[in-house]
Amino acid sequence: MARRAARPAPALAAVGDTPLAVLPGCGPKLAEKLAARGLTTLQGLWLQLPRQYEDRTRLVPIGLLRPGETVQVEGRVQAVQRGFRYRPVLKVAIADDSRGTLVLRFFHFRSAQVNQFRVGTRVRAYGTARPGQAGLEIVHPSYRVLEDDGSEGLGESLDPVYPAVEGIGPVSLRRFIAAALDRLPGDDELELLPAPLRAGMPSLREALLTVHRPPREADLGALLAGTHPAQRRLALEELLAHNISLRRQRIARQAHAAPVLGQPSLALALRDSLPFPLTGAQQRVFDELRADLSRPLPMLRLVQGDVGSGKTVVAAMAALMAVADGRQAALMAPTELLAEQHMASLSAWLEPLGVRLAWLAGKVTGRARAAVLGRIASGEAQVVVGTHALMQEGVEFASLALAIVDEQHRFGVHQRLALRDKGAAGGDSVPHQLVMTATPIPRTLAMSAYADLDVSVIDELPPGRTPVRTVALAQSRRPELVERIRGACAQGRQAYWVCTLIDEPEEGEGPAAAMKIEAQAAQTTFEQLSTQLPQLRIGLVHGRMKPGEKQSVMAQFKAGRIDLLVATTVIEVGVDVPNASLMIIENAERLGLAQLHQLRGRVGRGSEESSCVLLYRAPLSQTARLRLETLRESNDGFLIAERDLELRGPGEVLGTRQTGLAEFRLADLARDADLLPRVQQLADALLEQDPAAADRIVARWIGGAVRFAAA
Ligand code: ADP
Ligand code: MG
Repeated sequence: MARRAARPAPALAAVGDTPLAVLPGCGPKLAEKLAARGLTTLQGLWLQLPRQYEDRTRLVPIGLLRPGETVQVEGRVQAVQRGFRYRPVLKVAIADDSRGTLVLRFFHFRSAQVNQFRVGTRVRAYGTARPGQAGLEIVHPSYRVLEDDGSEGLGESLDPVYPAVEGIGPVSLRRFIAAALDRLPGDDELELLPAPLRAGMPSLREALLTVHRPPREADLGALLAGTHPAQRRLALEELLAHNISLRRQRIARQAHAAPVLGQPSLALALRDSLPFPLTGAQQRVFDELRADLSRPLPMLRLVQGDVGSGKTVVAAMAALMAVADGRQAALMAPTELLAEQHMASLSAWLEPLGVRLAWLAGKVTGRARAAVLGRIASGEAQVVVGTHALMQEGVEFASLALAIVDEQHRFGVHQRLALRDKGAAGGDSVPHQLVMTATPIPRTLAMSAYADLDVSVIDELPPGRTPVRTVALAQSRRPELVERIRGACAQGRQAYWVCTLIDEPEEGEGPAAAMKIEAQAAQTTFEQLSTQLPQLRIGLVHGRMKPGEKQSVMAQFKAGRIDLLVATTVIEVGVDVPNASLMIIENAERLGLAQLHQLRGRVGRGSEESSCVLLYRAPLSQTARLRLETLRESNDGFLIAERDLELRGPGEVLGTRQTGLAEFRLADLARDADLLPRVQQLADALLEQDPAAADRIVARWIGGAVRFAAA
């Protein structure tokens, strides 16, 4: 009996993976342009979702047009005027039976176009009506000249407008996507969500078809707002993909071992030596950290706490858990000023307990650097405090057991990981990670942006703080303000005057240029205020000063030998001078909510009633007004963060360098927050019951490329 060669069953090639070359008209050149946008397969095009819709399914009578409406109209040419006064212009007046006239205005046109428009020609145009010199007009409409007596049908569905792809015109792009959609398979191949868990929502196939080709009767308002059921269905799956991806990373991380840090006595000794009792929230969060650290799995915990909630002490106690075990802890801060301040606090707290500290920043060079590196590498230094310099090459820890990153939102995920990779000695073991932020992340964001980490919240301020009174004041009232500072300082109060970036740096110039502009603004203000307030002791700090100079000015301010400190936003994070009770922020309208809240957090740290004056330049934009109002009304970091999220969107709230958050195709964490519980539920179910489907969902929405660094 002849043995037949065993042939593997033909792999069921998923239609979605088909290369775009199958599409008519998609030659290698075009395929390359699409690939530059990451579009290489049919599935890529299915998920290339419209940004906007144009309604060409109906005609609006010209007589009923209102300014601001985006519409399709049809009429006959009444008059054509070509002018050259300041620049070439072509005006075509059209009218329909509704006794209205509309001008189509063009600034760029070819003569062939001019010849198209003869009096009496039928034209169909689409665009936004605006008031013109004589009635309404549409500037640069998209238009078509119609056969004189033919009756041309209207569009069957709303026209999708896709994000532009360089080198491909919108019409071709629309055609390719339509052709890809024609090959959309049935739900038996497409659908990956278990039916009971998507109850009440359309299937993937149905959702995709609706979003790309909304039927004429579809709710355009909902589509434009992104709240149509079809869009919600897609957003659900996209959020799910991100959630699964993050949870996978968490699982991968937990495959590593971490040192068991189980000796709290040193940490408790610190607690008992402090001049104040911990707040209940601090104690609770420390207990959470302690539980994590005593397990042989790497901790990754985010501690959130509003400015002034006392995160540093808690971090110091965690560091002592590493020290007690004979290992090292590192604390990294985003700015030198802040790192210096941490060094000062930690030295004061830890040295009396016999703990050896080391300090490392970019400015530490040459021999001093070699000496510090030596102490870190030998393990002599038990707690290392510093800036980004801690992550540089050449920094090797003897036995790093805990990496702490302060103000984590200022760092990218990659940087956080680089510190972790300074690894604990010994095999597969990795350090525990503690990240801290004073920019409270709204719960909804935390749930999805940080699905890979645990979150603790210090939701209580130390007792005796009085809320900061905040007022907004137009720049024109600056003279009054100067008087007010004179009065406040005469009573022994201290004040900050914060100068912000007044001009944007030129295109292509980096943060150094911004820092320079800020520094100049601060210098000028410093000189003005010195003239206006000769009786006050005025200091200046900005990012371009030498660290030693900055430190000495800060020290004088802290010691009360400076009354008024003119500063740039370098003092935004962490600086702690409890006696300072007045803050003026110039050009407050230019800053984001989170940043303003951070700055304001520099005052209100003592028992003295503090105030914050937001100086702005009129007129205020609508958003700027809302921002300033929010600050006036609230001192609650979480509420402010929620508002910030509404005003700015999650990408910006978390910073562009954060994860892949800003890159959602369609989901919007603020708008779709109510889907998140369902996302969690689905992720649980899929990871347990159908990991292959979970993989396919991640691949479909996020792609093979790891967009999140493996954490
Ligand atoms: P943040 O959370 O903004 O980093 P810090 O750790 O800088 O806050 O703490 C702010 C100030 O509050 C510091 O001077 C710190 O010593 C003090 N502090 C911290 N915890 C307490 C507490 N439980 N009671 C009183 N003061 C505290
Ligand atoms: Mg802090």
